[in-house]
Amino acid sequence: MIAVVSPVRLAERLDQLLPQTQCTRCGYPGCRPYAEALATGETTANRCEPGGTALMQTLAALTRAAGLAGAADLTLAHPEPVAHVAVIRLDDCIGCARCLPACPVDAIVGARRLGHVVLTADCTGCDLCLPACPVDCIDLIPPPATWQPPSASDNRRRHQQHQARLAARRRMAAPSAATDATALATVPPADMPPADVLPPDVLPVENPPTATASSLDAAQMTVDATPPATDRASRRASLIAAAQAAAAARRSQR
Ligand code: SF4
Ligand code: SF4
Ligand code: SF4
Repeated sequence: MIAVVSPVRLAERLDQLLPQTQCTRCGYPGCRPYAEALATGETTANRCEPGGTALMQTLAALTRAAGLAGAADLTLAHPEPVAHVAVIRLDDCIGCARCLPACPVDAIVGARRLGHVVLTADCTGCDLCLPACPVDCIDLIPPPATWQPPSASDNRRRHQQHQARLAARRRMAAPSAATDATALATVPPADMPPADVLPPDVLPVENPPTATASSLDAAQMTVDATPPATDRASRRASLIAAAQAAAAARRSQR
């Protein structure tokens, strides 16, 4: 029997089942957009590579039960991925912070002009940070033997925090929006120098340098001033301190 379910409710149900890595491998900009496309029959249930075969069959059963066509395709569009996590080569990191907005689950910590580090426990291995790095100092490696993939609920929470922070940053940049809009209108993207020749303190136009720098400085001050309340917070703070110390030591040797 075909159940009558509204696309909105079906999308919510499907989204609850997705891994929430926001990796975009399904061809959509995140898990929720994929769930919404599934719920309207726009796409098929075989596109979530991180979810693997088991998730594909569950999605197919739910969409088929809702009477959607295309749900019978039970071959994954891509092979199930081998688990890996990102690591940053600290000696090569220039502290440009471009990897921070690229990580959808906030698994990278650091402050501008200081070394950045990946929190292995939070990394989903989505590889979205790799193209953001102008000096190519991020590698994907097999995870430690004790590593467990972050849960979907943790991924969702961190992604929501990530989105909220990006939205706050956009609001902070709002007073200069007119200036930026004028600059964007008069400077075609083709005239922009490629990212890999920009100096480290120049960020893309969508992240105004002053707003980004002050946001990261504020975040760093908050981290510095907040006593660690949990093991995770303690680990995050110590990783930041270690990255800062390593970067300071490198600068003193130049
Ligand atoms: S986890 Fe699956 S649904 Fe979410 S963005 Fe990645 S491929 Fe798409
Ligand atoms: S650190 Fe890189 S690979 Fe890991 S979750 Fe963030 S963007 Fe993905
Ligand atoms: S994008 Fe690369 S160089 Fe810039 S802070 Fe991240 S890891 Fe370091």
